[in-house]
Amino acid sequence: MSGSSVRSDALPDTVPHDAPPGLVVHKFGGTSLENAERIKNVSGLIALGSGHPVVVVSAMAGVTAQLAGLARNDPGEEEVEEALSEIGERHLTAAPLDAVDGASLATRVDEILAGVRVSLARTDFENPMAREDAIIAAGEDLSAELVTRALLADGVDATPLDARRLIRTDERFGSAVPDLEETDRLVRAEALPMIVEGRVPVIQGFIGSTTDERTTTLGRGGSDFTATLVAAPLSADEVVIWTDVSGIHTADPREVEGARAIREMGFEEAVELAYFGAGVVHVSAAKHAVSTNLPLRIRNSGAQEEVGTLVNPNQRGGAEFAAVAFKPAVVLVRVRAFPSAMAHGFLARVFAVLGAHQVPVDLVATSHSSTAFTIDREEDLTAVRDELSRFSEVEIIPDLATITVVGHGLLNEPGMEALAFWAVGKTPVHLISQASDVSLSFVVSEEDAPETVRRLHFSLIELRSDT
Ligand code: ADP
Ligand code: ASP
Ligand code: MG
Repeated sequence: MSGSSVRSDALPDTVPHDAPPGLVVHKFGGTSLENAERIKNVSGLIALGSGHPVVVVSAMAGVTAQLAGLARNDPGEEEVEEALSEIGERHLTAAPLDAVDGASLATRVDEILAGVRVSLARTDFENPMAREDAIIAAGEDLSAELVTRALLADGVDATPLDARRLIRTDERFGSAVPDLEETDRLVRAEALPMIVEGRVPVIQGFIGSTTDERTTTLGRGGSDFTATLVAAPLSADEVVIWTDVSGIHTADPREVEGARAIREMGFEEAVELAYFGAGVVHVSAAKHAVSTNLPLRIRNSGAQEEVGTLVNPNQRGGAEFAAVAFKPAVVLVRVRAFPSAMAHGFLARVFAVLGAHQVPVDLVATSHSSTAFTIDREEDLTAVRDELSRFSEVEIIPDLATITVVGHGLLNEPGMEALAFWAVGKTPVHLISQASDVSLSFVVSEEDAPETVRRLHFSLIELRSDT
C-alpha cells in the first residue's frame, strides 16, 4: 500500500510516528483531584514515573453536579455568580503554584467561567441537553488546566490537549456515542507527535464534540471511557484508572466493611460488575478495553503502594472470583397482556415498543402473558406507557435497586442459589434474573438494598473465604 491518497480533511490519515513503547494512559477521577494534597499526589506520581504518560482528567469531585444544577434550575444571576466564583476559587486554591503558573491558571479559569456564563444566557441551543453539555464540560476544562499547571510545577512537560479535537461523537447530547474510526485517527494525528517529542498531553475526560464542533458528553462517569478511547489507538501498554479505592473490591467498600480488593479479574466479570453498578469502572470503558484488548488497572492515587486490580482482557475469571454489585435508582415495569390480546407475539410487541423509543432494559423476567423488566429511573416512560397500555395493563414500581452476584466459578457451585436465597431472607424481592452463569440478580427496594448486599456478601463471599 502506498498510503499516499489525498484526503480533504485537515489531518492526515497516516501519521509519521509509531506509538513509542512504555505508553500508559493515566486517568484521574474527581476524588483524586479533590484538594491540594490529592493533586500533589497526582503530579508526583506522573513526575516520578517512567515511559510516556498520557493524562486524562475528570472534573474535581462535585463540580459536574454543581454545573448541571445551574444548567437545569436556571437560578438568578446572584446565585450563578456565587456558584461560579466558588468553583473558580476551588480550582485556584487546589494547587500550590508559583506566581507565573498561578497567574496563567487564573486567566484560564476566568475564560472558562466566562464561557459558562455565555452558555447559560444563550437561548439558541437545539435542545436542553446540548445546552447542559456545553455548560458541564467546563468542569473537565478547568481541571485539565489545573492539572497541567501542577504537572509543570513538578517539572513535567505537560500540555493541555482539547478532547473536542480527539473524541468525535454523534449528536446524542448527554450520552454521546463516539465514532471510533474517526476518534482513532484524530487521537493518533493529534496526540502522537506530542508524545514522541516527550511531552505529556493532559486531556479532559467525559467530553467530545460533533463534526461541527458542538460540545458533547459521554454520560456521567464517562472519563473512564475517554481513557480507553485515547489508549486504544496509541497502542498503550495499559490504562490506569486512579481513584479513591485500591482496586475493584468484592463489594463497594464504602457499603460493605468486609469487602476486599480483587488482585486480578477477567473481562467478563469486569463488564458485568460495571454494568450492574460497581461504579468504580464505567461500563463503556470496560467494554472498550475488552474489544481493543487493553489491560485496565484500577489503583488508589492516595495509596500508591497498593497494587490495585488488573483487568486482563485475555482472561476469563477464575473459579475463586466472586463479587456483589448494587445499582440504585431502578424502576420496575410490569406488563400484563389484556385477556383479549393474543399471548402469541406479546413479548415481541412489548420489545418493539421499547426498541422504537430506545429505552434500554436491564433485567427481564417473563411468563406466558406477562413480562417485567427494569430500567434506569431517568428514562422518560410516558410514551412507552401509553403505547403499551393499548394492549396490556402496565404497572410501574419506582425506587428499587438491583443487587447482582457476579462470578461464574461461584454460581456454578451446587447449592449457591439456595445460599443466596437464604441470605436474601424475608426481604421482599420484585424480580429475580439469571441469564448466564456469570450473574444472578435480585430487584429489591432501594431501602432494603444496602442490608441485603451486606448479607449476600457475608454469606457468599466472607464466610466462604474463611473456610
Ligand atoms: P472517580 O471519581 O475516581 O471516578 P468513582 O466514584 O466513579 O470515582 O468510583 C469510585 C467509587 O466506586 C468508590 O469510592 C466506591 O465507593 C465505588 N464502588 C462501587 N462498587 C465498587 C467495587 N466493587 N469496588 C470498588 N469500588 C466500588
Ligand atoms: N465529571 C463527570 C461526572 O461527574 C465525568 C467523570 O467523573 O468521569 O460524571
Ligand atoms: Mg468514575
